[in-house]
This record gives sequence, C-alpha cells and structure tokens, in this order.
Amino acid sequence: MQNILDLFRLDQKVALVTGAATGLGAAIAEALAQAGATVAVHGNRRVATETAEAIGEKAAAFQADLSSPTGAEELFAKVKDKFGRIDILINNAGTIIRHPAAEYPIEDWQTVLQVNLTSVFQLSQLAGRDMMARNAPGKIVNIASLLSFQGGIRVPAYAASKGGVAQLTKSLANEWAVKGIQVNAIAPGYISTTNTEPLQADETRNRQILERIPAARWGQPIDIAGAALYLSSAASDYVTGTVITVDGGWMGR
Ligand code: NAP
Repeated sequence: MQNILDLFRLDQKVALVTGAATGLGAAIAEALAQAGATVAVHGNRRVATETAEAIGEKAAAFQADLSSPTGAEELFAKVKDKFGRIDILINNAGTIIRHPAAEYPIEDWQTVLQVNLTSVFQLSQLAGRDMMARNAPGKIVNIASLLSFQGGIRVPAYAASKGGVAQLTKSLANEWAVKGIQVNAIAPGYISTTNTEPLQADETRNRQILERIPAARWGQPIDIAGAALYLSSAASDYVTGTVITVDGGWMGR
C-alpha cells in the first residue's frame, strides 16, 4: 500500500494563495510550500514579500486589489505568466466592514461582496477553465467563515458574502468533480489574526467568545493550515463540496 503521508505531498504543484501577507494566508502558504509546492503569494495593501522570503526560492509575491472588478483577472494573468499554471487555488483574501444593517452604505456592501464573493468566483472560474483546458486535476479551497452558517451582528455584507462562498463551493464542486477538480471550503472559527484584533481587545466580547468555544482558546493560523493542506492534496481526492469547520467545537455547541 502507498504510504499515506505521500498523499499529502505537493511536489510539482503550483499553488496561489490570496491574502498571504499575514494571518491565515501566510500560514497556509508556508504549509503548502513545506509540503513541496511552489507558491504564488498574493497581497494587497500589505505586500506578501515577507511571506515569499520566508518560503524561499519556491515562492513569488504578487500584488492585486480584489475589490476592483479586474483585480482577479490581473492576478491570474501575472501568476500564469510567472509559473505557467495554477494547480491549487486558495481563495483566502477577505474583508469585513461593520455597520448596523439599517445604515449600511451600499459602497461598503459592494466592496465586501466583490472581495469576499465575486473575486472568489472570478479566480475559481479562471483557474477551473485553465485546469480543464489542460485536462489536469486541481484543487480549489475557499476560506468561508462561521458566518457562512450564522448571521453575526452588524456585518450583513460579510455574512451574506461568506454564506455565498459556501454555496458557490458546492455549486462549482458539482460541476467540476467529474473533471477531477475538487472544490471545498474551510470555515474557521475565532482565529487570532489582525482581522480579529478588535474582538480580542474588547474584554467583554473576548470573554463571551472564549466561554462559547469548547476548546476554550482562540485558534491560531496553523490550526487552519492543516485543513488547507489536506484539502489541497491527493489525501482529499474523494472529498468535494464540503465546508469543514475548524473552530475548536463552536458549531457543535
Ligand atoms: P488578515 O490577516 O487581515 O487577512 C485578510 C487578507 O485579505 C489580507 O491579506 C488582505 O490584504 C486581504 N484583502 C483584504 N481586502 C483585499 C482586497 N481589496 N484585495 C485583495 N486582498 C484583500 O485576516 P485573516 O483573519 O487571516 O483572514 C483571512 C481569511 O479568513 C478572510 O477571508 C477572513 O474572512 C477569513 N476568516 C478569518 C477568521 C478569523 O477569525 N481570523 C474567521 C473566519 C474567517 P491587505 O491587508 O494587504 O489588503
């Protein structure tokens, strides 16, 4: 029998990880590189050169603003130009803008939907088309959220976009499974990153959150990297259309 650990190797694979300058994206990019992949790391305001340097010669940094309707296309073209193809797409970039629903400005709604949902569709479509044209297998991993299932408070655009990511994951998975392309998502729980700094700094919210998590701790980016490696590798070839929660038990409570 084949050694099971070999199924987790990503040698000869090219991965694109969006939003990889910090947080979950940086941890995922480093994990995929450790498993053997060449990694295109994407950044926006914070460039991902530090992540690329930490990985070494098998990484290159790319910049693109995914709030622009042409950002995804420009990013895909740059990565394809440099590495020739994308075998693994990790749609991790995401943004959150908080306002009460009654006052939510339409511009902020559109920004959140463009970055968190539309650009995920655009990049998946570009990568999926390219995989199919090459008759090659592929992996797409979308970073969803617990707000793919729950509504949250003062984050209607974020919740709508992440709910959409979960549904888009299933929709693409259904069409592309027969082509050997698996599309899955990870719904992280409360993970300690710059994104969640305001929550961690708010004593009351922090206590309420910790009381609700069976594991009784914030997650760390490395907690997400293991699931991302699994869903990027041949170990998950019969897994598609799923949303895996990595949340210290939150959803089961
Ligand atoms: P983070 O470090 O702030 O990462 C978010 C990334 O998205 C950044 O690299 C950011 O780039 C990028 N991004 C934001 N706006 C962008 C835009 N207009 N164009 C391109 N890239 C853009 O936070 P994180 O917690 O690791 O978040 C990563 C993903 O996990 C997000 O999709 C988030 O919704 C999801 N998530 C996080 C948690 C959590 O607890 N941390 C929980 C559930 C889901 P710049 O900063 O350079 O603009």
